[in-house]
Amino acid sequence: MMKRHLIIIIPLVALLVFLAVQVFMVISTWRQEKENMLMRYESLTREAAARLMAGKKANGFEKAMDITDKFAGLVISEKLPELGNTRDTANLRKKVLDQTYSILQKNEVISSFTKEYIKKQGYSTSYKPFVWISYLSLLTDGGQFIIADTVPNDDEIAKTVIVVESYKEEHNNFVIAYVSLIDMNEIDSLVFKKAFFSILLITISILIVVLVFWFTWRNLMEEKRLSGLKSDFINNMTHELKTPLSTITVAGRTLEKAQINSDPGKVLETAKMISKQSVNLNQLINTILEVSLLERTEFELDRQKVNADELTHQIVTSFLTSCDGCAEVQEEYKATGISLPVDIVYFTTMINNLLSNAVKYCDKDPVILVSTMADNNEFQISVTDNGVGIPHDHIDHIFEKFYRVPHGNIHKTKGLGLGLYYVKRIATAHGGDVSVSSRSDHGSTFRIKLPL
Ligand code: ADP
Repeated sequence: MMKRHLIIIIPLVALLVFLAVQVFMVISTWRQEKENMLMRYESLTREAAARLMAGKKANGFEKAMDITDKFAGLVISEKLPELGNTRDTANLRKKVLDQTYSILQKNEVISSFTKEYIKKQGYSTSYKPFVWISYLSLLTDGGQFIIADTVPNDDEIAKTVIVVESYKEEHNNFVIAYVSLIDMNEIDSLVFKKAFFSILLITISILIVVLVFWFTWRNLMEEKRLSGLKSDFINNMTHELKTPLSTITVAGRTLEKAQINSDPGKVLETAKMISKQSVNLNQLINTILEVSLLERTEFELDRQKVNADELTHQIVTSFLTSCDGCAEVQEEYKATGISLPVDIVYFTTMINNLLSNAVKYCDKDPVILVSTMADNNEFQISVTDNGVGIPHDHIDHIFEKFYRVPHGNIHKTKGLGLGLYYVKRIATAHGGDVSVSSRSDHGSTFRIKLPL
């Protein structure tokens, strides 16, 4: 038992560890790729800025600075003298800062130069360049009129932002400190494109491992179920064989006793018992032998055209005789005149199995309905009983070899779990099939369909 648990648990744990390792690998590959990409773009943009500087002796903001200088001059001469209360001052600061931002944005050339450069190097340009003004003041006669003086907090800057260059300049009318940056806001999709193949490979390998695991697991469970069924079968068989054998043994001992020989009635009764049990034993052994034969060879059917309704009626009659009228059987034959190509012996076994199950799995007086019908290409026979029915969970399995539904409270249900398996094999050997509909405590209907 312990071993079985281990067989299941060890691979499961191994699978989980494998999955965890794979997920960890994907996440760290992703992080690594992202970091590499940020570093790559940092050096690319810096290279571009350096090239611009080397080539044109300019940082790309010259025109923007000239315009800002003129704008600052205007503000100093026209707006500053008019300033009244502090609200006006705050408003002016905001306006000047906004305007400076827009001048910088419209007139800088570094962004286009950098994009061009990066494109040439074969990299994507899906990022957003922008400028951050950290300090701005207007130079008035009385000193500096500070417009902005902010140092950004580290956590205010998105993780995807790269600083390209910082500048500090003093012009005629203003002093400025600003930073040129890029926001790699689409870095995730860039990384995804780059790492697509490795992620795909990892995903495929995960899928393969999970699939293989699932198949192995299913086989293991199936093996477990089959070995359970087999050991049940051996128990049942032992039990089934022991019952007639012990009756025969007891009967034999009875016959050995001296006083019984003087009572011919008792001798006859005992002899009858012996022969009845021998027949049972023989039938049982035949069933087992037949099934093991079935496993090794295909069915060899000796088909004959028979009148289906007549044959069915004969089978029902002899069943009732052999079981001493153990059930009330209603017969509804509507396949009149149909001649059915079947192996009579197998067909009889099949119907007998259904009839004896209808009696066996019934906890009241058995009432069975046997009915037939046919259309152009199919003959159908159904056996309906008023028995215990088959629980929903088991219905898919009852045609499997050795399968038995546990019926705890009914004592007469002896069996090997072979009857319905045999019915199914015979029906399919004839090119047909068998199906069942049933409800617990409401009885069952078995339907066999055979081609004409
Ligand atoms: P056995 O009768 O030897 O157990 P079968 O293959 O004939 O084997 O039947 C398999 C199982 O299907 C039985 O154990 C029983 O629980 C269930 N079964 C078969 N026929 C009926 C029926 N008419 N009503 C209720 N249960 C049935």
